[in-house]
Amino acid sequence: MTYLAVPIAAQNLERARQQIKAALAAGAEMLELRTDYLENLSVELVKNLIASVKSANDRRLPVIVTCRDKQQGGAIGYRQQLRVDVLTGALKAGGEFIDFEYDNFLSAENQEKIKLALSQNPKGRLILSAHNFETKFADIDKLYREILDVCPAAIPKLVYTANHINDCFEAFDLLHRTSGERIVFCMGAAGLVSRIIAKKLSCFVTFASVDEKSATAPGQLTIEQFKKLYRYDDIKADTELFGVIADPVGHSLSPAIHNAGFAEKRMNKLYLPLLVEGRQREFDLFLRNVLLRKWLNFGGFSVTIPHKQNALAFARTNQGFIEPLAGKIGAVNTLVIRADGKLSAYNTDYAAALDAITSTLRISRDDLNELPVAVVGAGGVARAIVAGLGDAGAKIKIYNRTVERAEKLAAEFNCEFAPLDDLPNVEVKLLINCTSIGMCPNVGQTLLPKECLKKDMAVFDTVYNPAETLLLKQAKQKRAKTIDGLSMFVNQALAQFKLFIGQKGNTALMRKTILGCLSR
Ligand code: NAP
Repeated sequence: MTYLAVPIAAQNLERARQQIKAALAAGAEMLELRTDYLENLSVELVKNLIASVKSANDRRLPVIVTCRDKQQGGAIGYRQQLRVDVLTGALKAGGEFIDFEYDNFLSAENQEKIKLALSQNPKGRLILSAHNFETKFADIDKLYREILDVCPAAIPKLVYTANHINDCFEAFDLLHRTSGERIVFCMGAAGLVSRIIAKKLSCFVTFASVDEKSATAPGQLTIEQFKKLYRYDDIKADTELFGVIADPVGHSLSPAIHNAGFAEKRMNKLYLPLLVEGRQREFDLFLRNVLLRKWLNFGGFSVTIPHKQNALAFARTNQGFIEPLAGKIGAVNTLVIRADGKLSAYNTDYAAALDAITSTLRISRDDLNELPVAVVGAGGVARAIVAGLGDAGAKIKIYNRTVERAEKLAAEFNCEFAPLDDLPNVEVKLLINCTSIGMCPNVGQTLLPKECLKKDMAVFDTVYNPAETLLLKQAKQKRAKTIDGLSMFVNQALAQFKLFIGQKGNTALMRKTILGCLSR
């Protein structure tokens, strides 16, 4: 059993009651009363707070009463004596769980008082917690064993900041190796995934806030995100995992799209945002960490900025299957983990882009032959599009900030190149932005001077967030035909979905999901 717990962190009883009401309405399965946030704290005040929960709560949700030491993340620096009195009083008032810092529990006086209160209130349970707000614990297994040696009936809670997603694997391993009631997860943006898959790994509690403003720890998700976006109610121990590997990853629409697809088909699958910071080394380490742990049940990944070329390099060393065109493009945006632990690597961008161009312009691929095209950018998406258009016979000129990259790409695919400064002189029928310029949150930016946009031209912006970029708005003003990145994005997501599960996705649902996300 994993409880989805909402911390109640209010300064007074009235505000706490409002938060309790909101948490119950949002679907909390447990409440954590963070009494260290209460002003003028007293044992009576906490008893009143517990009584408020009991009367507001006909679902009889259990409560954890916490009065966190300021040195371990508490809000107000209350004396230790008072904090212990609050916790022992909470047990008497019917609080199901109390959470006390393991370090402070080592004091004989504190230990004696808490053990006495527990023996007098045998239904109450003790959570012994340790936090590291900076980094991983020196030895998390040792700490876990120490806590249980000191108090075998306690629920160990070990929470640390992940400075990289690769730091999370120690938490996953501990949960995998142990059973029973224990709470282990990581804080920070890189630790987000550990909060989402806590239920899969049977972590006793995962914490959520009612809304983004009321989060009590970095990286905490809202109940709505847990339930609607990350399929919380459907997660099981054998849920198969997928995810998008990116940096940054917060803007990615892929979790919403793929999870909507899985939910529609009632599949026991979950798609995660995977913030993999760093370069090839960190990317490789992440994939090795995943491949070493079959029990995590990862089935595949979407790969985007800045890892598409790293993904291909990894697939080559892994000796799995590489789609020939992906190898030629030099970039991979989809990895599927095979039963033998090897990877199959694909690039779904190329066909997705060509289909977006031909279907929007109502032309055939043959019509691309000899078409003068300007491609702006020389990264992963540019490579895919240059390879695809080159294959179709288009006459391509590549413009890029780093001219050497444009030159290299042009040499590989037998086309021309130029610096960005030459863009005002561009004379083409199809102009494609393959850079990230104009992408949310920098929606006021475009690399293309207005004077290079012409009526008899088609303008394709591969950026899909927002759907209508500044570049496309300006192209429309010049009455040029426009092709949005959304069409390409839907096409490539559909192709990935099919590679992941072997079944066709629902195009209308994917488009609707993306537009819903973008409108928010
Ligand atoms: P990438 O490999 O990192 O390449 C980024 C490109 O953008 C490079 O050419 C880079 O130039 C250029 N760039 C970045 N910042 C710049 C700046 N400040 N000024 C000028 N140029 C700049 O990225 P990618 O994977 O090709 O993705 C590029 C875009 O495609 C992203 O916006 C992404 O959202 C979009 N995309 C769309 C879809 C879709 O389905 N619609 C799919 C994937 C990606 P340098 O070489 O000089 O660094």
